[in-house]
Amino acid sequence: MSRRPLIAANWKMHKTVREAVDYAGELVPRVRDVTDVDIVLAPPFPALPALVDALADLAAAGRIAVASQNVHAEPHGAFTGEVSPPILQASGVTLAIIGHSERRRLFGETDSGVNAKTRAAAAAGLTPIVCVGETLEEREADRTFDVLDRQIAQGLAGLPPARAGGAVVAYEPVWAIGTGRVASPDQANAAHRRIRGRLATLFGDAAGGACRIIYGGSVKPGNAAALMAQPHVDGALVGGASLDPVAFAEIVAASRPRAQPS
Ligand code: PEP
Repeated sequence: MSRRPLIAANWKMHKTVREAVDYAGELVPRVRDVTDVDIVLAPPFPALPALVDALADLAAAGRIAVASQNVHAEPHGAFTGEVSPPILQASGVTLAIIGHSERRRLFGETDSGVNAKTRAAAAAGLTPIVCVGETLEEREADRTFDVLDRQIAQGLAGLPPARAGGAVVAYEPVWAIGTGRVASPDQANAAHRRIRGRLATLFGDAAGGACRIIYGGSVKPGNAAALMAQPHVDGALVGGASLDPVAFAEIVAASRPRAQPS
């Protein structure tokens, strides 16, 4: 099955509203002609509406979209400091990153919490980008697949198969995030193949074949093409290198599907 590449920028806690709008102005001319890659920008919460406005033309054409970096699992209520999926959806946000390893490690997010957020986001019409990945210790103990199996089964539990197929899974080995140490294309593909098999077992072959599984962890312009050439790698979640619109546009360009031999 051919899956459309998706390249997402996770800006983390970087960029003011003004900087986000300036970035959009730099990025748009560089990706205007890219019609075969889905581009996603995930800024800090305050910049979401401004970025939705700044990207409105390309967003209307379905070519670029804005994501939140987190959501709350409840639709509304007394949850000071939190933002719900319906509030995000009403602001023009269409995807939500959920369960990033920084949130798991620094903010105590658990698989069951990730699951609640994933179901809430999907119910509100947001596409969840569910992050999974093993630590270095888990990899060295040969537990990578066990960890991925658990995070997929628990994180996506209860999603209807069509929603699971429409979700995005980001495989982000914790040891590769922000470290400059990238998974090899073979390592990434093996993990993605395992995730896809797990999705097919849980949600059926159609969902397993449709779900986009993207790689995250020190993706740069120089290594994106080799990763994207792997059959189970459907895109990238890019942290550090996404802060520069020129570098991010280069990663997008490197991710375009290769012309099929006639
Ligand atoms: C991330 O934080 O999701 C990430 C992949 O970061 P980096 O690209 O900087 O490793």
